[in-house]
Amino acid sequence: MTLIAQLQQCLGADQVLTSPEAQASYLKDWRGRYQGRAQAVVLPTTTQAVADVVRFCMSAGVPIVPQGGNTGLCGGATPDASGKAVVVAMTQLNRIRSIDATNFSITAEAGITLDQLKAAAESVDRLYPLTLGAGHLTTLGGTLATNAGGLQVLRYGMTRDLCLGLEVVLPDGTVWSKLSGLRKDNTGYDLKQLFIGAEGTLGLITAATMKLYPLPAARALIWLNLPDVSSAVDRHALAQTVFAGAQTASELISATTLSLVRQHLPEALLPTAVGAWPEAWALMIEVSAHDADFLQALLCAWQRACATAGVNAGYIATAPDAQAQLWAIRKGLAESQKREGLAIKHDVGLPISRIPQFIDEASAALQKRFPGIRIVAFGHIGDGNLHFNLSYADPVKNAGLIAQSAEANAVVYEVVGRLDGSIAAEHGIGQLKPTWLAQHAPAGSMALMRQLKATLDPQGLMNPGKVLV
Ligand SMILES: Cc1cc2nc3c(=O)[nH]c(=O)nc-3n(C[C@H](O)[C@H](O)[C@H](O)COP(=O)(O)OP(=O)(O)OC[C@H]3O[C@@H](n4cnc5c(N)ncnc54)[C@H](O)[C@@H]3O)c2cc1C
Repeated sequence: MTLIAQLQQCLGADQVLTSPEAQASYLKDWRGRYQGRAQAVVLPTTTQAVADVVRFCMSAGVPIVPQGGNTGLCGGATPDASGKAVVVAMTQLNRIRSIDATNFSITAEAGITLDQLKAAAESVDRLYPLTLGAGHLTTLGGTLATNAGGLQVLRYGMTRDLCLGLEVVLPDGTVWSKLSGLRKDNTGYDLKQLFIGAEGTLGLITAATMKLYPLPAARALIWLNLPDVSSAVDRHALAQTVFAGAQTASELISATTLSLVRQHLPEALLPTAVGAWPEAWALMIEVSAHDADFLQALLCAWQRACATAGVNAGYIATAPDAQAQLWAIRKGLAESQKREGLAIKHDVGLPISRIPQFIDEASAALQKRFPGIRIVAFGHIGDGNLHFNLSYADPVKNAGLIAQSAEANAVVYEVVGRLDGSIAAEHGIGQLKPTWLAQHAPAGSMALMRQLKATLDPQGLMNPGKVLV
């Protein structure tokens, strides 16, 4: 029996997509940067079906590309151009298995979207805190496989920090399951950590138990227009000392980045009370509390601290509508850049104190090599995570720049390396950065990663060409 016939018999013919039209949306990444081919896209609905698909593919020597919501920004979910791979789209394996509100945990299948997971948590008065701009598409499995970060890492941590247990189909088709809701469990190696952030190269995540938190009762969002990045770093540090654990986000956005939002998403309006759009930088600080009076006390403390420091406390949005308006601007950054056209994207991690130096030195080096280059910089300043995207407004010049991506990357990563940073903070490696990973990983890391990969996936068929090359 052919592999396709085996898959059809196991899953049902309508869960095995073979025509180019049916496959199209699974073969191109969200940015439109990568395009691949596949002999089939399959849509399993149970863990057992995923295990069967993996066994069939492994015995046929066929590569497997796991895919969630296909919103990854490094091409990790896109197959190569050979047409040999089977894409395993996880979106129909999407049930909530259980919620334990008293244990503050939820167990759900990998294909559930982030928004669905958050809604399920809210239905029992709990918060699932991971928040990204593409929550209606992004899946639980995809966020685990990339160890996604997003807007609330400052308070709640990365996806890894939120995970209590996992169920994984290993490359040999067996199911490894440890869906405990335990916060303390030192029984040997913490195996789930191997699969979190592995971008589907070590196995297929089919379900997970995740932490929940109390749902905040009151939130405020502070918007500051600032003249330079050093002021933003200082204001973030001041906010940390005033708000401590109540500060749930700290977002930096350059005026150039905001100009693309204004151009492509004219519906994203700044509340009139803010006054003007920033000339240089904006900083957004979110504060969350479980009691409205406590929130007010925190905001008064903020105003006092700013007065003492002789700095502006910014526009403080307490009304939900005004906060939603500001978040719509922040969440529109990726979409507005997509509409503007391709860019060379960087997702770097830095000590927070070195962000101003990084921006100064990387910008100067880039302007020297690529005069007039447009730098679209924004990021999660509280996590030391900067998105530093490069383009030219002129499409012809931009195409030339994209062709020189390697040179531009080398300029940026040289500064990152010198400042003890990371070339991949939250988006992962995918097919965008394996060669850069090999150059920047600490001594011995690549050999250890390859050893682990060879042990778990000796045929090298789980998402080949991603992370390790
Ligand atoms: C508008 C927008 C905003 C974004 N903002 C952020 C942000 O703030 N922070 C951030 O970290 N990311 C952000 N991202 C990137 C993206 O949303 C994350 O990388 C997300 O985790 C990908 O989830 P996904 O379900 O779409 O996975 P996919 O894109 O489908 O896959 C991503 C990787 O995970 C693997 N994978 C997927 N599912 C599984 C599974 N079940 N088992 C094993 N491997 C699997 C794939 O093979 C691939 O390597 C943003 C993306 C967009 C489009």
